[in-house]
Amino acid sequence: MSDPKNPYEAPHADPNATVPAPLAAIPMAMPAPVKATVGIIVALALIVGYSAFAQGTLPWGQLGIMAVLLWGVVRQSALAWQYVRVMGTLAVLATGTIMLSLALGNRSPGHPKIHPLVMGTSLLLETLYLIPVLLMGTKPARRYFNVICPACGSVRVKALDFLYRERRCKLCQTTWR
Ligand SMILES: [Zn+2]
Repeated sequence: MSDPKNPYEAPHADPNATVPAPLAAIPMAMPAPVKATVGIIVALALIVGYSAFAQGTLPWGQLGIMAVLLWGVVRQSALAWQYVRVMGTLAVLATGTIMLSLALGNRSPGHPKIHPLVMGTSLLLETLYLIPVLLMGTKPARRYFNVICPACGSVRVKALDFLYRERRCKLCQTTWR
């Protein structure tokens, strides 16, 4: 029905057709998995901050990193998305290693028993580190951070530069920003 040569046809609605596709993530309401991630990062900041404060110190470095991550998440930054996943995974591995060594030490004879509260807290932290990693992999989160292929919908996306400004789909090779 739409003949491109028909001079009487109403002009097409998109005046930006010759301009490349949008260069930034489309602003959208924060989906539930991202909201949950924000809540967990805030909870972690409170736990880490409070437990250090109880010992008379404040971990400014850790709290600063969490603040920057939160800022990036609110701004739909793909770099923040990547860092939440990478740092969450590292924290899961580190906490898991500590828990394993505690558990092994607990079993050796003559070793002072680890307080159940220590193991409980470690388990809680482990869970809180792991959940954002899983949440960030969901499709609503990927759409929010614009790290899902706009052409074929694949989640196999790689960053083309360190700051994660340009992305490429590993499946159909589409690149976008
Ligand atoms: Zn694709």
